[in-house]
Amino acid sequence: MKYTPREVVKSIDDIDFVKLYDEGYRIIISDLDNTLAPYTMEYPTKDLINRIEEIKNIGFEIYLVSNNKKKRLEIFSKAFNINGYLEKAHKPKINKLTKYLKELNINTNLVIGLGDQLVTDILAFNRLNSYSILVKTIDTKTQKWYTKINRIREKSIIRQIKKENIEIGRKIEEL
Ligand SMILES: [Mg+2]
Repeated sequence: MKYTPREVVKSIDDIDFVKLYDEGYRIIISDLDNTLAPYTMEYPTKDLINRIEEIKNIGFEIYLVSNNKKKRLEIFSKAFNINGYLEKAHKPKINKLTKYLKELNINTNLVIGLGDQLVTDILAFNRLNSYSILVKTIDTKTQKWYTKINRIREKSIIRQIKKENIEIGRKIEEL
């Protein structure tokens, strides 16, 4: 099922990045809004910067891939001091993302994708054949109107996911 994430977590703090590194993953492509930070956060907190630092120290390269604008991504990427970012990524489409990763010579089999939405993030990451992880939306109140519409679609998608993988489906429901 194209929407089924490989893992479901309540926050990035619950991801065992050391284990994933040992399994061979080397690159993280992450959504920004409501995955790492709420929309209302204009600049990352020290805690968040430290968490990203820990993940980098394991050995991962990190890239932000967001449908949001360049300015916001630039601010966060600079604060995190990460490898790069792709703005207006057009997820769940993967033409821009594929081109971006190709330019960087990144093998998508080594990629972990983090995102809070099944219909944009997880679908895109699965299309890339990366290891997709669904992270609980940080602040549902700040979601954009189109995200709320996606949320309605998600209900029927979760039903389909449960048919394929009951454990993952239940975890999504419990988020
Ligand atoms: Mg998001």
